[in-house]
This record gives sequence, C-alpha cells and structure tokens, in this order.
Amino acid sequence: MNISVIGAGQMGNGIAHVFAQNGHTVVLIDIAQAGLDKGLTTITKNLDRQVAKGTLTEERKATTLGNITTRTELASGVKSAELVVEAATENVDLKLKIFRDLDAAAPASCILATNTSSISITRIAAVTKRPEQVIGMHFMNPVPVMKLVEVIRGYNTSDAVTRTVVDLSAAIGKVPVTVNDYAGFVANRILMPMINEAVQTLWQGVGGVAEIDTIMKLGMAHPMGPLQLADFIGLDTCVAILRVLHEGLGDPKYAPCPLLVQMVAAGKLGVKSGEGFYAYTAGSKDLVVALAFR
Ligand code: NAD
Repeated sequence: MNISVIGAGQMGNGIAHVFAQNGHTVVLIDIAQAGLDKGLTTITKNLDRQVAKGTLTEERKATTLGNITTRTELASGVKSAELVVEAATENVDLKLKIFRDLDAAAPASCILATNTSSISITRIAAVTKRPEQVIGMHFMNPVPVMKLVEVIRGYNTSDAVTRTVVDLSAAIGKVPVTVNDYAGFVANRILMPMINEAVQTLWQGVGGVAEIDTIMKLGMAHPMGPLQLADFIGLDTCVAILRVLHEGLGDPKYAPCPLLVQMVAAGKLGVKSGEGFYAYTAGSKDLVVALAFR
C-alpha cells in the first residue's frame, strides 16, 4: 500500500518505521528538513536495536529504510497515497488545516486517518468532502513496541473504511480495538486524569517524583510511573489532551494542573526536550535523576 505519514516526530517516525518494515511504501512528510533528518536517524537507531537483538536481519533493515522517502511538501507527498496517517502536533487548528489540504491533494479514494490523542474525529472529518473516509488510527508510544491501535470511528466513518483500517492494523502485527468518537476516546479519557492527578499530588507536596512513581509502579503493577510516562508522552501533548477533554466534556476535573502548564511554558517537555519530571541524557530515554518540585 502507498502510505503517507504527516509529521516525523516521536509518533510519526514510529508509524513510518512499522509500515515500512511490513512492506508498505511510505512517504514521510514534515514541515522542516531537520525534523525529517531527526526522524530518519531515530528509525535507523531503532532498526539497529532490532538487528542487535536478533529480531531483524540486516537485509530487512535495508529494505525497510528503502521503503521510506521524505518530503517537506504535503501536496506532492500524498498524490499517490491510498492511506494518509496524520501525526503532526496535537493542535486542533493545525489538524483542521492539514485535513483541508489533504482533502484537496490526496486521491478521492484515499483514506485519511489521524493519530490524534484526543481531538474529535468527527470535527476533523467535517472539514473534508469525504467524512466517511476519515478515521482515528491511534498508535501507542513507542510505536514499534506497543501492540495497541485504538481505532476511532467518527460519526460518519463507514463500515468499509473501519474494516480496512482494522485489517491493516492486524496485518502489521498490531491489535486493533474499535471505539466511538468522544474527547480522549478510551485511552486518554482514562490515562490523562491519572497523570494529571499525579502532577496535582506532586504540586501539593504529598509526595516527590520518585515516591509517586514508585507507589504506582509497585502498588498498582504499572510498568512505568505516571510522571515518567508523562515525560515519555511529552508534557506539551499532555496539556493539549487535557484541554481537549476539559472543553469537549465540559467538566472542570479535566483542567490541567498549573504545574504541568508552567513546566510546558518553561520548555520542560519531558524526554524530547531532555528534561521533565526527570532529567535525561542527550538523545537517550534513560532517566538520570528524579527532579524535586516545590
Ligand atoms: P512531536 O512533537 O514529537 O512531533 C510532531 C511533529 O509534527 C514535529 O516533527 C513537527 O515538525 C510536525 N509538524 C507540525 N506541523 C506540521 C505540518 N503542518 N505538516 C507536517 N508536519 C508538521 O509530537 P508526537 O508526540 O509525535 O505527537 C504527534 C501526534 O500523535 C499528536 O496528535 C499526538 O497527540 C499523537 N500521539 C502522541 C503520543 C505520544 O505518546 N507522544 C501517543 C499517541 C498519539
């Protein structure tokens, strides 16, 4: 299948990697060449890790990289696409603009999917002339490792398009789960209030970073504490999702904790900026130290 992926950030490069490794032709699109270069470097590093572990041959690594081309221009990058997966920054206005542009540039039969964490699929679909072909395809981070794809049906998404996306997800080794379209869907409707509550707990001084994460790991059998997970997701993305939940569901309990908002304003975005609730060594997800907050 010819697949175009919009956005070469944490999610976009993982989505491109997985499709390309499973034999699909991928055009990876970002606004800046630097973002594409960084995305390709990450894909190569992750493929090298698979080779070192013995789960991928050198030959398959080369084929995977050969299946990926890059573009900084959207229209030419989607002109032969059968499926587009949009994974640009979590911002409603940006996504509406991208989908308007995609509707104009992609072939009429092309399915337009979004990897949004929380923004209404129905709202995104409404700016196109093909709302029955617009769907949520919500991969989890890190994409090459995590099995789940939350498939979100918008109000108008057709059965045929849902079936195609479910079958494709299964064919690339993922487990698709189909849900309906309300803010945050299922995954982030449940995850984000937990992360936000962990930040509130920290902000109120009930416990430190290490204490909160250790309690959730050992006490609730979570593989990673909520504050470390927030760092992995990106604190800017967490705030954006909480704002969508707050606005979409109209309940003040979803308002992002002021500490989270403050950290984003200060440029502390988690792993991708090198510091969040933890400090990270450059280019690595290994945490160095749990930081103290007052
Ligand atoms: P990111 O900040 O790592 O990457 C976003 C990328 O989009 C950047 O490279 C940026 O240059 C690019 N971009 C911005 N505007 C663009 C445009 N007009 N055209 C093309 N590219 C553009 O963010 P991310 O974590 O990869 O998140 C991307 C999407 O995936 C968001 O919708 C997010 O909610 C969703 N998501 C994130 C996670 C997570 O754990 N981070 C998990 C599931 C879904």
